[in-house]
Order: sequence, then structure tokens, then C-alpha cells
Amino acid sequence: MTAIKDEIGRAVERLGDDLEQLSRRIHGTPELAYQEVKAAGWLVEFLTGQGFKVERSIGGVETAFRGTLETGAGPTIAILCEYDALPGIGHACGHNAIATAGAGAGAALAAVRDRLPKGRILVIGTPAEEGGGGKVRLIHAGVFRDVDAAMMVHGFDRWVGHMDLLGITRLGFEFTGKAAHASADPWEGVNALDAVIQTFNNVSMLRQQVRPEARIHGIVTQGGQAPNIIPEFAAATFYVRAPRLDLVAELRQRVVACAEGAAAATGTSLKVVEHPETAYEPMKRNEALLGAFRANLRALGVTEAPPLTDRLGSSDVGNVSQVIPAIQPLMKIAPEGTAIHSRAFEAAAITPLAREGTLAAAKAMAMTTYDLLADPALVAAARREFEATKA
Ligand SMILES: [Zn+2]
Ligand SMILES: [Zn+2]
Repeated sequence: MTAIKDEIGRAVERLGDDLEQLSRRIHGTPELAYQEVKAAGWLVEFLTGQGFKVERSIGGVETAFRGTLETGAGPTIAILCEYDALPGIGHACGHNAIATAGAGAGAALAAVRDRLPKGRILVIGTPAEEGGGGKVRLIHAGVFRDVDAAMMVHGFDRWVGHMDLLGITRLGFEFTGKAAHASADPWEGVNALDAVIQTFNNVSMLRQQVRPEARIHGIVTQGGQAPNIIPEFAAATFYVRAPRLDLVAELRQRVVACAEGAAAATGTSLKVVEHPETAYEPMKRNEALLGAFRANLRALGVTEAPPLTDRLGSSDVGNVSQVIPAIQPLMKIAPEGTAIHSRAFEAAAITPLAREGTLAAAKAMAMTTYDLLADPALVAAARREFEATKA
């Protein structure tokens, strides 16, 4: 490894305890999408202390931020942080480790700023990945317009350079019927809860006729007020996922038809609620960026697991990858076999294993950022590949 990369690695190690503390603080105070006030504050404080110029509430998103480290005219490379938690199960997606890895990478680059090639390093805080589409709002606000390449890491139970992401759309179904006494006058009622239950049954039948990589899953958000009242209102939220946006749109139509059929069967009226800003796009792969990241991982002695094909999620980093070259490698922060969005993953996200993975990811991102600043041809190759790749 070159001397400066060694120095980057040592800087991350030196900051190890501070970074672990940052990670533990965020983990211990889980904040939901767009409410990550404390997490954003701690990250801003940390980056400011490392010499970044930090702007808060960028792109009109209160809990977003952008730290900038500038060494002259050159490429602009963004390192992304997520820090939102999940309802009920806290940091079961390990976003505390994502934020820490991003902040650590930025800090390591700041530690060698006098020897960095010319360019601009951004550490961008992107709220509300879990369903809120924070990055989509930042894209629309122009935050990624002058960025040449972006990277982030996500916690997982193994190291994987690239994982495909499914496109996703989120749909709300609201059924309105008519209330009546469920025992005295049930024939006077129109049962909105039945429409929700029938929608789930229709979707279950649909599910056996879709391709294995598609995903349809929902919850009941309102199911009535009391058993002795025929529910006059009931609602459900569904996520519909597929590998390409046209396939998502096609599947979405079939899921809406399931709800329409349920409304017809029960005599209820249906309102379909759309959430366009939370539609996430599939991940566009970028081998040029991935190759640089992987070489750095190998230099750090990290061995990647074989590629995964069946454990598929979605993220708004997919949207970023559709507007600029971007990667989201997976870092090992939990024992192999630990499912994400589980209580076990939440517990793992602050263990010594998580610290080890997070620090290695911070080093690899900082080293990859250094490679991009040092080699304009690599930035150009990532751009060319981005232009040539359809989706
Ligand atoms: Zn998640
Ligand atoms: Zn996540």
C-alpha cells in the first residue's frame, strides 16, 4: 500500500474510539425518518471538529447535512451517511454503522488533507432511507448535480461488493364502507375490514404467479374501532418490488387490481394513495468504482463473500446510482446468518465485530476517494460506464 493509504488507515484507527462512541450514541437514540435531529447534530459536530465546513438542512431537508473538504479544482466525490432507525426495532438496519463509516472516511481524508490531490470531498447526510426517500428529495434539490461519484456502505452479515437493489413503489389502500351494529344490524353495514382482508388474499394468490425476484408485502394500518361495529374504514399499505422500473409499474397495476376486486366484492369504495417520492430505483452497477473499492478492501486484508442473488432489498441509493456513478458495498457488522431488520441485527450493530467492519469500511471508502482524486482517468471511466449502462 502507498504511504498515504497507510496514513489513512492509521487515522481511522486513531479515531476508532471516537467513532465507536458516535456509533453507540446514534444506536442508543433511534430516530425515525426525517426526525434524526440528534444523529445529524452529532455527525455535524464530529465532522466540524475534523475540519469539514458543514452546512445543515441542505436541499430543504431539515436533518440532512453536507460537510465539505476542498483542496482545489478537481473531481467532487461524495461519501453518504444514513442514520434513520426503524419503528419498533431501533437500529436493526445498522444505519448507525453507515453514518460512522462515512464520518470516519471523511475524518481520515481530513487527517491527510495537506497531501491530498486537488478536488472536493463531500460527506452528505441523507435522512429517511427507511421509506421516506431522503435521497430522492436531495436529488430533486440538486444536491448531486455537481458530484462526480458517490459511495456509501451498508451493514450486512458478510462483505459483498455489489448487491442488486429492487425498484420499489409504496401503495396505500383506503376502503370506506358503512358502520352498523355487528350483531343487531350486520346486514346494514358495509365491511371495510373485509375489503382489506380480501386484498391480502388476492395478493397471496397473485404472489404465486410472479417471478421469484419480485416482492409484494403489506401491513394493515387501520382495521376498525371495535368488534361490535362493522368497520366503516380500513386501510393497508403495500410495498411492491421488482428488478426493473417497468416491471414494478406492471406489478403495481396487478396489486391495485387486487384491491379493486376486493372493493367490488365487499361493496366498499377504494382510494389508492400514492407516494411518488418514495419510489426507489434499482441500483445501477459501476464496475470502475467497484473495482477501486474492492482493490482497497483486499489491500486491507478483507475477503469478500460470494455474490448474493436471493436476499434482495431496495434503497434510495438506487436513485442516486441512476443520476451519477455510485456504489453501495456491504460491510460485515454481524455474524453470518443474521437477518437484517431483525432484533439480532440491532444487537449486533454495536458489537466489536461491528466496530471492526465499520472501521474497515471507513478506510476502504477513504482510500477509494483518494484513488478518485489522484486519478482523473478513473473518474472518467466511471462516468463512461455510467453513460453506457442502461439501468
Ligand atoms: Zn433497512
Ligand atoms: Zn438500511
